[in-house]
Amino acid sequence: MTSAASNSFDNRYSRHSQIRGWNQNRVASTRILVAGAGAIGNEVIKLLALIGVQRLTIVDFDVIETSNLTRSILFRDSDAGLPKARVAAARAREINPDCRAVAIDGDLEFDVGLGVYRNQDIVIGCLDSINARLALNRCCLMTGVPWLNGGIESEFGEVTLIAGAGACFECSMTEQMWERRNLRYSCTGQIKDFSADAAPTVATIASVVAGILVNEALAQVATDPEIAESRLSPGDKLFISIRPYHLHVARVDINPECTAHATCINIELIDGSVNEITPADLIRLHGGEGASVELGFDLLVSMVCVNCGESEEILVPIEKTHATLTLCTACSSNTRRAETVAWIDERSDLSSRTLSALGIPAAHILAVAHDGFRRWYQIGGNTVGNNW
Ligand SMILES: [Zn+2]
Ligand SMILES: [Zn+2]
Repeated sequence: MTSAASNSFDNRYSRHSQIRGWNQNRVASTRILVAGAGAIGNEVIKLLALIGVQRLTIVDFDVIETSNLTRSILFRDSDAGLPKARVAAARAREINPDCRAVAIDGDLEFDVGLGVYRNQDIVIGCLDSINARLALNRCCLMTGVPWLNGGIESEFGEVTLIAGAGACFECSMTEQMWERRNLRYSCTGQIKDFSADAAPTVATIASVVAGILVNEALAQVATDPEIAESRLSPGDKLFISIRPYHLHVARVDINPECTAHATCINIELIDGSVNEITPADLIRLHGGEGASVELGFDLLVSMVCVNCGESEEILVPIEKTHATLTLCTACSSNTRRAETVAWIDERSDLSSRTLSALGIPAAHILAVAHDGFRRWYQIGGNTVGNNW
């Protein structure tokens, strides 16, 4: 940093430096991914930009609607129809030119490689559906990255730290939550209803919860021992009520039957891109014959019509597809069946397709299994934000 640049850096953050234990350089270099640029996400992103977090990744698949504007400081009327993540990142850079926010306009599970999560210091979940939280929970647990789950209703909010050996989001799922989640899926796993679990909310509670989320995210990465002592522990859930005012922390119990705690271990970085590498390449790397690449999701390979036999190749994760795909355009009957795969071996026709053609995002981490032994490969480095 030149001395002029460092002077303006010191000036901008001079009020921070008066705070005991504050380390602006640590704040600036912390890598934070914000999942969801809705009501809470807008407030979180605003705060991170103001405070001087530079390495910010924003993920959202949605576009801006007029009904978002009552709770979204980063959006304007003229932004309607534009991707939330892209607009939020641009506004964050505007608020603070030090902030190098990048946007991923996509689904946090299927369009963000696990290597992108692995590259973060902490993830802040600002999501409004159970399904998105379940997906983010698995991505963070698999890559060993701590995450904060924020949630709001009109007068209540909660912030949970999910990290290490503590309880995860899935541990705390009740039967009613599973039922609510399953209502959105057809029996073949396709989405019936794209709408999130829209809850009545107002900007005040979003702002309160966002303030706590950002405060806690910075506390989690702080090196000052006094700050470390007062932060949440893994599995801690902070309940917030603003009517009447009330705040308390409870520890979430680990569910011993929870299956979400799998972690990728001994990940090998493959120098290359998902646009070139094929499942066959990974199979060769891992013992050849008998090895199989585990996709980690059900890939909808094709829709086949029971009535006329017509088949259409799809190659999209089934959860990203819509139940209307059952309609056959050739014979107009509504009887098309889904053909899916969850893993690919050398005998599969798909083994010579590129990983990107099979729906695998850049920097994703894939497991290859052979004789009951599994190895993890990350396909290319995280290119989001130039390998922060
Ligand atoms: Zn769990
Ligand atoms: Zn047909």
